[in-house]
Amino acid sequence: MISHTTRAALAAGLLASSVACGRVASSAEAAEAGVQQPLAPRLIVFITVDQLRGDMLDRYRGDLHLGFARLMRGAMFVNAFQDHAITETAPGHASTMSGRFPSSTGITSNTAGVVDPAFHLLTGARGEVGASPLRFQGTTLTDWLSAKDSRSHALSVSMKDRAAILPIGRSKQDVYWYSVNGSFTTSNYYRDSLPAWVMAFNARRIPASYAGAEWRLSRDSAKYSEPDAVPYENKGVNNVFPHLFPDDTAGAMSYLRATPTMDSLTALFALEGLRQTGVGSGPQTDILAVSFSATDVIGHAYGPDSREAHENEIRLDQTLGWFLDSLYKLRDSNAVMVALTGDHGMSPIPELARARGEATGDQGLRVNLWDQVDAVRAGLHAAGVDTTAFVYDVETVALDRAAVTRAHLKPDSILDAFVRAAKQVRGIARVDRIAQLRKADFVHDPIARRWSHQIPPDSPVDLVITLTRYSYWSSIVATHGSPYDQDASVPVIFYGPWVKPGRYTTFTRVVDMGPTLAAIAGVKPTERTDGVVLREALKP
Ligand SMILES: [Zn+2]
Repeated sequence: MISHTTRAALAAGLLASSVACGRVASSAEAAEAGVQQPLAPRLIVFITVDQLRGDMLDRYRGDLHLGFARLMRGAMFVNAFQDHAITETAPGHASTMSGRFPSSTGITSNTAGVVDPAFHLLTGARGEVGASPLRFQGTTLTDWLSAKDSRSHALSVSMKDRAAILPIGRSKQDVYWYSVNGSFTTSNYYRDSLPAWVMAFNARRIPASYAGAEWRLSRDSAKYSEPDAVPYENKGVNNVFPHLFPDDTAGAMSYLRATPTMDSLTALFALEGLRQTGVGSGPQTDILAVSFSATDVIGHAYGPDSREAHENEIRLDQTLGWFLDSLYKLRDSNAVMVALTGDHGMSPIPELARARGEATGDQGLRVNLWDQVDAVRAGLHAAGVDTTAFVYDVETVALDRAAVTRAHLKPDSILDAFVRAAKQVRGIARVDRIAQLRKADFVHDPIARRWSHQIPPDSPVDLVITLTRYSYWSSIVATHGSPYDQDASVPVIFYGPWVKPGRYTTFTRVVDMGPTLAAIAGVKPTERTDGVVLREALKP
């Protein structure tokens, strides 16, 4: 049985040029040394790895020799953050090329992301909901480039709809994501029918060919420092290598998302899109946005400290290696600017964090506030107020002040009583009035800063709730979403002839990437950004 990376590479005819040969030197190596610097890039390649925590590339560095290793030889910011509080996928992607925090993009959580029944998928499995960027507010680098040169064109691809859509903002570009029916699709927000090249790619039915395949370790099992069989991983079932794809094609097309194959398929599709759309071949600056999602799916199932997570990064390093080698065959490396980041970081499995002493005391618990919410709502009901006046959404509370005032209740008293009750619950670190947090000392209180960057100024939210470190609202095996550094930290990397290679320790935010790439492309953001240009990494 052939491994699935080999299979995908064979399908693309890429094996000989990349995977088998290892790192291939190209003119990008000369560009790395700063031999030639054109005026503006013809192509900006923006890579987002879903759930790539800031320390992960260093953690696995000894095993990364291809794509990651190459990009790490660029300008690498190692003290970088998605500097907002609800560190989920949608807010993270919306902040990448907009240069703005969720408080400005309006994409404050996954549920406030791209799901939109008003737009349907052009091809999709039964029950898959449509998607659009209509909740995204403002502009992105794509719009700034288009304002300068209307020929500017973007191609954005990912497994996830939100990861393909949000980096581009509202612009109607070539935006595609993966359906569990095994095809790449888009919604009728973007177009009325799939282009011929997308249909031809889908007709190859690569995902279906994985029925009955295995996800095996790429190295000798003794070379992995992590144990494989850990009871907390994947709730104790199917948590050891090799991982088996279901025998049926429908099952395989869905299961593929939880393996490194998803990312190699995404890379293949992105390269085919580059060939077919001509993105990056004109005199103007175009964008290719690629988001790799397998790290997230695997991390949620097995945790960030699993052998699966380690193996996945080795495989993504290989995928990025042949992706970059192929990219530089299709486009002149002296005209290509590459950036890489993550949409959020990741927390350890709470039970594991407690067992190994990383989480202590009230840390690393699974928490909910349903009893406290029910108590408030019972009080409202008794006073004749509709219980929907108390809007509770996991970590935020909004109170309909007019409704409770009409019933002669005091809104602030209701909120204060909830705060007191919530603070009694083990695992709750703090419950704050958002209005107070906006006035906090942002240098010494990063949690306040991240909440302030999260909630739009015109939001009805009154209270924000922060768990203790390593604690979860969720029953999922492992997750992210907190304002703590482990969930907010991500790498920020720039690679191309415009930057000075090096390891930068300056405190940096992902919102600085959009303005920095705009400066490299010689365009100005058409609105105020939260981020700034990272001039220290740019050549004069
Ligand atoms: Zn996730």
